Formats: sequence, structure tokens, C-alpha cells
Amino acid sequence: MAILVAGTVAFDSVRTPFGAAERILGGSAAHFAVAASYFAPVRLIAVVGEDFGDEHLVPFRERGVDLAGLKRQAGKTFFWSGVYHDNLNDRTTLETQLNVLADFDPVVPEAWRSTPVVFLANVDPDLQARVLDQVSRPALVAADTMNFWIEGKPESLRRLLSRVDLLLVNDGEIRQLTGRFNLVEAAEAARALGPSVVVVKRGEHGVLVFEGDAVFALPAFPLRRVVDPTGAGDAFAGGFLGAIAERIDRGERDWRRAAVLGSVLASYQVEAFSLDRIRRLGPEEIRDRFRAFQDLTRFGPLAD
Ligand code: AMP
Repeated sequence: MAILVAGTVAFDSVRTPFGAAERILGGSAAHFAVAASYFAPVRLIAVVGEDFGDEHLVPFRERGVDLAGLKRQAGKTFFWSGVYHDNLNDRTTLETQLNVLADFDPVVPEAWRSTPVVFLANVDPDLQARVLDQVSRPALVAADTMNFWIEGKPESLRRLLSRVDLLLVNDGEIRQLTGRFNLVEAAEAARALGPSVVVVKRGEHGVLVFEGDAVFALPAFPLRRVVDPTGAGDAFAGGFLGAIAERIDRGERDWRRAAVLGSVLASYQVEAFSLDRIRRLGPEEIRDRFRAFQDLTRFGPLAD
């Protein structure tokens, strides 16, 4: 099943305790699209500026991402810069320049208007809503957001969430969104806003999936070397929704498998800057890390 993703395609400047990179290819939709492309056909809606050369399209083209909804507009590409704290779980945004995003009017190509799975990656919630308005009765609508929009556009965000089936956010974001510190309470409060499934990404502490009466918890893959956590959340979402789009039955087994595949993609994402690692994954690398997750979390009965 195809996935339509709308979000940012960006230039990022990132500093981590292990290195720094200037104006590298990033953005919420970019990391998502490349990660999801391993599981499902991906259709990308985003805007870039005149400073975005064709060379930056190569990772998307190589991964078969459909770029018919990527618009190049007069002005500069969205720019974000951030610095990670020593724990790598917290970061401070230094600068967000909306640039061409400020007056982007997204148009979903006619042929994409019945795409079954929609991912509204982190971007202005009014823009997320305008994309959703153009898709007719999708089987699944998922969304992400971040502090910038939770603070900047709270009413738009609440309106959007009432139309969303699945919310994927990190722990800090769900606390900020709901005003609840306890994550179980925060997930309940988030579900009261609309989404029936809530996924809380917790960086190196893994992920919690709240679905029906079930809660599923998975650790992050213990890595010796994390180069840059940027985009880990979007890569998780790509693996997760890609896996769901692959098998839309959506029983508990499917949600669990999706959470593992999301974690696999996120674990590769953080091994390099930009899309450098996830754009070149072999099927055996995905399979091997999936099995490593099975080993990591397997345990026997309480008593033999
Ligand atoms: P993540 O690390 O998964 O939260 O995503 C990081 C990506 O989000 C970076 O590549 C940024 O370009 C992008 N980003 C940062 N701030 C924003 C924002 N306010 N709206 C949309 N995308 C953003």
C-alpha cells in the first residue's frame, strides 16, 4: 500500500558531542521517506528553495521515492540548526528558518488523492490539515509534531489531532502537548484528543505503543557509537508506518512488528549524519537487526 508523506525537506546544521555538520540534507519528510521506502511506495509532498540542487534529490531517486509533489519555489529552503547535549537525548534548537515553508500552499497531485496511508510529518499543523483536506477517506492518518508547533499553533494542532488515527511523538512533546508528566496518563490524554493509537518515542530509552487496551514497550538498540540522533524519530515513523502499510490487517502482532522495524530504521539513522546510513541499507541488514531485537527482548517463562 502506498504512503503519502508531507513534511519538511531541509538543510540542517547539527552539532553533537562527536562532531558537527553544516547544511546537510534533512527534514522530517526526508528521513521518513527514505526509511519507509524499504517497505512501501512513498509519495512526497514538500517544498524546497532555489538553493536546493538536483544533487540533493539523488537519495530519494535511488530509493524510488515519488517526487511529483516536491515543489521548488523562489527563496531559500527550510533551515534548522541544533546542538545535542552530552546525553544525546536532549537537544537545543539554535535556529529555525521557515523560508519557503512560510508561504507554501501544498497541492496533492490528482493521482495521489486516494492514497490509503497518510503521514503528516512534523510541519506547520495548518499545512498538515491542508494536505489532509485533499486526500479522500484514507485508511490510516498518522501525524507527528514538535515543541515549535505545540507552542506556536496549539489550536491548529488540536483541530488536526481530532482528524488523526495515530500520533507519533517523543516523550517531551507528549508531556508538553497534554500537560501530564506520567507517560501513561499523557498517552490517555492524547488519545482523548482524537488518535486511537499513540506511539511515544523515548530516544535511547526506546518506544511505547498504546493501542486498544495493550501497551507495548521496546528498548532502543544498544549501539556503541551514536553519531547524530537527528531524524531518528522520523526514521522510526518511516519503518513503523512502512511496516503497517505492508500489512494493513493491524492486529496486535502487526503493531509490534512495526515497532521493531521502526526501531531498526531509527538505530541505523543515528549511525551517521543526514541520510548517509539509511539510504544504503541492504535487506540483510534490516533482517539481521530485526533478529538482534528478537534476541535482545526474548525471555523464558517465570517457572519451568
Ligand atoms: P527528529 O530528530 O526526528 O525530531 O527530526 C529532525 C528533523 O526535523 C530535522 O531534519 C529538521 O530539519 C526537522 N525540523 C526541525 N524543526 C522543525 C520544525 N519546526 N518543523 C518541521 N521540521 C522541523
